[in-house]
Amino acid sequence: MTDASPFSAIPETNAAAGASFNTLPLAPAMQANLQQLGYLQMTPIQAASLPITLAGHDLIAQAKTGSGKTAAFALTLLTNLNPRRFAVQALVLCPTRELAEQVTQEIRRLARGEDNIKILSLCGGSTMRPQINSLEHGAHIVVGTPGRIMDHLERGSLQLDALNTLVLDEADRMLDMGFFDDISYVAKQCPPRRQTLLFSATYPDGIGRLAQRFLSNPQEVKLLEQH
Ligand code: ADP
Ligand code: MG
Repeated sequence: MTDASPFSAIPETNAAAGASFNTLPLAPAMQANLQQLGYLQMTPIQAASLPITLAGHDLIAQAKTGSGKTAAFALTLLTNLNPRRFAVQALVLCPTRELAEQVTQEIRRLARGEDNIKILSLCGGSTMRPQINSLEHGAHIVVGTPGRIMDHLERGSLQLDALNTLVLDEADRMLDMGFFDDISYVAKQCPPRRQTLLFSATYPDGIGRLAQRFLSNPQEVKLLEQH
């Protein structure tokens, strides 16, 4: 079912692993941080998607779990971020609390070279009040589950007018969990001028519908054989 997508800006690709991050237009502090973390070479999904996303394009990326998708979108949203503007500029939607926390940790690691970037994880199953308090103190990046993010938007405790990057991570799992309407609600609250990145391990019909509604001229990267 590899042809399910209506988008075909980039053919299926198996980009060579192993290109160095220093071939990318990343800030010197970010390059240094990647070296310190031992991220010396890009994984195939990173090598295929970062040149596209760092050029500002929307992206649909299909690749297996464990292929390094988090850094692919984290480096993009961190590059888009203005640390001096204390407002939510990036939102990452994830299917579960556990995944949201993993993504938050990975963004924190990658942001370490930059000063004072505040990242909040907002998931269902936690009481609202502490989350509302944290939001009152402000954040640059929010990671969360669709239902809880929608809840904060409805209450007005989260504003997305400064958002420049929206990420739908593990989009197929979010659809399996019945989050299509919540994701749609959240995406409609985002400024139309933004970069939207969609990551998914598989490509069921709902992904195409999400992409058609909420991505703008997306380029597509599919990595079929991964290890
Ligand atoms: P996915 O989201 O595709 O399932 P992750 O983003 O969670 O994969 O990455 C899997 C693991 O690989 C993580 O532990 C991450 O720190 C590590 N990793 C990602 N990119 C690199 C890289 N370029 N070099 C070394 N390790 C990496
Ligand atoms: Mg992931």
